This record gives sequence, C-alpha cells and structure tokens, in this order.
Amino acid sequence: MNFTEFNFEPSLQSSIESMGYENATPIQEKAIPIILAGKDLIACAQTGTGKTAAFLLPILHKLSLTPSDFTNTLIVVPTRELALQIDQALQGFTYFSGISTMAIYGGSDGMVFQKEKKAFLEGTNIIIATPGRLIAHLNMGYVKLPHLKHFILDEADRMLDMGFFEDITKIITHIPKDRQSLMFSATMPHKIRTLANQLLKNPEEISLSISKPAAGITQSAYLVFDHQKNKLIKHILSQKEYSSVIIFVSTKIKVKTLEVELQRERFKAKAIHSDLEQSEREEVLRNFKNKSLQILVATDILSRGIDIEDIGLVINYDIPNDAEDYVHRIGRTARAESKGEAITFINDFKQFKFLDIENLIGYEVNKLPLPEKLGVAPTYNPKKIVEKPFTKRYGKR
Ligand code: AMP
Repeated sequence: MNFTEFNFEPSLQSSIESMGYENATPIQEKAIPIILAGKDLIACAQTGTGKTAAFLLPILHKLSLTPSDFTNTLIVVPTRELALQIDQALQGFTYFSGISTMAIYGGSDGMVFQKEKKAFLEGTNIIIATPGRLIAHLNMGYVKLPHLKHFILDEADRMLDMGFFEDITKIITHIPKDRQSLMFSATMPHKIRTLANQLLKNPEEISLSISKPAAGITQSAYLVFDHQKNKLIKHILSQKEYSSVIIFVSTKIKVKTLEVELQRERFKAKAIHSDLEQSEREEVLRNFKNKSLQILVATDILSRGIDIEDIGLVINYDIPNDAEDYVHRIGRTARAESKGEAITFINDFKQFKFLDIENLIGYEVNKLPLPEKLGVAPTYNPKKIVEKPFTKRYGKR
C-alpha cells in the first residue's frame, strides 16, 4: 500500500517522501487507519517493523490539521536511546511543519532539567519521555496536561521488565481520562494484558505473528558451564575475523566484567549499560555503527530498539528469558538477505529454556562440541530442570 492512499496532509506527505518511504509496512497498513479513526490500540510488533512511523504519522496528520499551542501527545518509552530515536524520526517527519517535539530522558545537568521544564510550560506538542524523568517533573507540580489527546506506551513489555509498572500507573493519574491510548509491545505476556486493561478503552488489536529467524542466519549452540564461557568467546573470536559482534549478557554486572575481560585480551570491545552517561552510550553506539568498535557487549534492555544493521555475529552469552527475545536478538544479524551467525551458550541449568526456544522456532539448533582445551561440557538433558546452586544464586554467606 502506497503512503499516498492515506491522504495525509501535504506537508506530512512531503516529509514521508523525503525520508524515502514509499510503501507502508504491514504494521503501518493496519495501525494507521485505526489511529486516524481515534480508537485505542494494542499492537504486538517488534523493532524493525516500522512501528514508530505507524503511530507517529497519524498523530502528526491530526496535529497538522488542528495545530495546537499545548502538549497534545505524550509518548512514554523505557530507555533514553529509544526516546532519542523517536525524536530523531519526529524531526524528519515534522521538517515541513511547525509541530514542536522534545525528548525528555534526564541526565545530571541542571540546565537540561530547566530546558525540559520549559518544554512542559510552553506546551511542546509532542513529548517523548522515560518514566523516571517524567515523574521527576510531575512531582514538581508544574506539569499540567489538560489538552493531552494521545498517550502512547512504546515497548511496554520492556517497560514492565524494567520495573516501571507503578510509574506508568502514576503517570496515568496526571493525564486526562478522555484520550486516545496506544500500546506497543514486542511480546504479549499476561502482565501486558493487565496493563492494557488499565490503560485502554475497547482497544483494537493488531498482532503481527512472530517472525521466524531469517534463513540467512546460521544458528548453533554450545553446552557450557558458566566458568567456560569467557574462554569459549575467545576461542570463537580467534577462529574467524568478524567485523561486528554483539554479545548479549543477562545482567549489567556481567556486562561490565566481560568488557574488562575482552579488553584485557586486546579485543576492541565496549559495553553498553545504564551506568554510562548518555554521551558515553551514544559514543559507543556511534563507534559500533561506523565499525571502529568490533564488539558490543550489552543487555537486552539497552540493545532492544536500537537500529543497528549488518551484524556478522550475535553471541547469546546467556539464554534470554523469553523465547521470543531469542528471535529478536539473532534477527540483528543477516538483515536484508545477507548472511550472519548466531551462537548461543547453554549452561547446565538453562537447558530447558533453550528447549522453549527450539519449540518456538520449530526446529533443533545444531549443538557444537566444546573445544577440548576448555574441558568437559555439561551433558544435554533439557527436560530435566537443574537448580542453580544456592551459593551461586545468592553469593557465599
Ligand atoms: P522501527 O520499527 O519503527 O524502529 O523502524 C525500523 C526502520 O525502518 C527505521 O529505520 C525506519 O526509518 C524504517 N522504516 C519505517 N517505515 C518504513 C517504510 N514504510 N519504508 C521504509 N522504511 C521504513
């Protein structure tokens, strides 16, 4: 479906064309008419589907027809990176219009806080905010949003994983009941339904079936004990020259430890985690995108939603909790028909999780033998749930 069929306001249509968009993606084709009709929406769609434009374009169309001096739209997102990414897309789409936008995601600088405060006081049309920073402003008492017409929650599942449920509930108390609400989520666990019941009124539902891994991805896995993982990474990286590698790790602490370990071995590796300043995170991502940095070590939370293509190798250092996340993670490689590799480390007590993944994708992933120099691997028995030893879970007492 061509964008001209939506009959968008001419200046918006011009900016769509100048961004090089011609045809709507499936999520855009489904969501845009629903949003234009003023209905609430819950949509299951992951990053890379074009979901950002799916919600921005109809809202911008409405705003172009009835310009406003007030905050009309509030978009709440889990991470600063996503806030910035949406703001960048908005800047492209509003290039020919007078619509004002602002990303509010914090930082320690007092000047930035004042600038954000001003955005609220001046009625910036579209505000994109992370929950913590938004609440900091709400708590100060000057944020009044009586003219708010649209409330959007993006990456809702990630938001709940990060513990923002109560923050969202609180934010809702500050915005008008009579509004259009849209919720986007890559996965649809039960807790998302609960949140949707609180936020949305008679929502329309869109679910794009979860994509299977692209055929160009060579998937394999190793059975390993945790203490063998770092040596295995070094072994893999020494076998072949990969230009861009993402290593997904489950926790911030492990991300930092692995970064140090890889740097000690003289790999060009950097970690991205929430303790970094915004400017530091941006620099890491910039260097990774322009290939001066070879290896990015990251948690799901920060890497999700970041638009990086051409990854040669994805390593799942830890198995993701959600089977669908496996598909999202390895989908970062082999984009646009290219070839890529995905290697997963399966430790002894997460074997049953990997079976969930294989059930979701519908086939078994090739298990490679552990190099002999690394010692004996765990045996594979995914139906047996192995408990993590107490001392490992809680540390020695
Ligand atoms: P998103 O899923 O919103 O993160 O979008 C993923 C990427 O697709 C972004 O780089 C967008 O600029 C791009 N994109 C979104 N919609 C279209 C479209 N209809 N045609 C071409 N590119 C698009």
